[in-house]
Amino acid sequence: MSRIAYVNGQYMSHGIAAIHIEDRATQFADAVYEVFAVFACKIIDADLHYDRLERSLAALEIEMPMSRRALQLVIEDLINRNRLKDGICYLQISRGSAPRNHAFPKSQRSSLTITAKTTRPGSGEIGKNGVRVITTSDQRWTRRDIKSVSLLPNVLAKEEAVKAGAFEAWLVDDDGVITEGSHSNAWLVDESETVITHQEGHKILSGITRNRVIAIARRNGIKVIETSFTMADVEKAKEAFLTSTSSFVVPVVRIDQNIIAQGEPGPITNRIRELYLREVHDFVQTI
Ligand code: PMP
Repeated sequence: MSRIAYVNGQYMSHGIAAIHIEDRATQFADAVYEVFAVFACKIIDADLHYDRLERSLAALEIEMPMSRRALQLVIEDLINRNRLKDGICYLQISRGSAPRNHAFPKSQRSSLTITAKTTRPGSGEIGKNGVRVITTSDQRWTRRDIKSVSLLPNVLAKEEAVKAGAFEAWLVDDDGVITEGSHSNAWLVDESETVITHQEGHKILSGITRNRVIAIARRNGIKVIETSFTMADVEKAKEAFLTSTSSFVVPVVRIDQNIIAQGEPGPITNRIRELYLREVHDFVQTI
């Protein structure tokens, strides 16, 4: 079956779906995006993604192209048209197209594109066996809480990881703090079995998976602290993992030259991963 995409009010074949040459997303990265996980035909944590989308749009003064309810219907329609059972939906909203000029155009019409893709979010070998991570310098701007499509530093960091045979790059800022990954949030389990991840704010993206994992862990008696950590903490860490919408909870078994938890997914990580997967299964039963 051929893939269907949504572009500014029209459903079209994925192969020919396109935006205007002067769309501000292409010339200025003047756009935001969201990635929704679809599991058993249902969107996971849809409202939390819409909340974050609205926060990103508001921060950049880009208008929502339609109401939240209408957007929800379009996404559900696209999921049906693609017969998507398990996978992801990618949504992008730009400030629209206008003759190239840095200042906002006088009249703005946001541009909306959505694609759907079959994947197996959260499953597979990486979840079971864990992955390797490298560290590299965090070269991004200072508003990483906005889910902007301006991802060049993230792309370069990920490519560095791929070239090193690793799954992800953890980004280290000028103070030596590991902020997050190029496309995921970063976590350690310290010597006292406390789970640590960077605090929310402008320095990281507030991951939807991150926030759900914090809630699940605390509900199940696992201590979580939201604070910054450095390579010195990595060297002492008992376990490590990463989280994202597309990969859920993934154990990290090596960070640069540091072997974590004897190179195997650790027990707390496995527990959090299982609790998360169970909650996702339960969630799709109830909606
Ligand atoms: N940080 C960055 C930089 C990301 O790109 C992502 C994935 N979009 C995340 C964290 C994880 O966020 P989420 O759990 O909402 O996918």
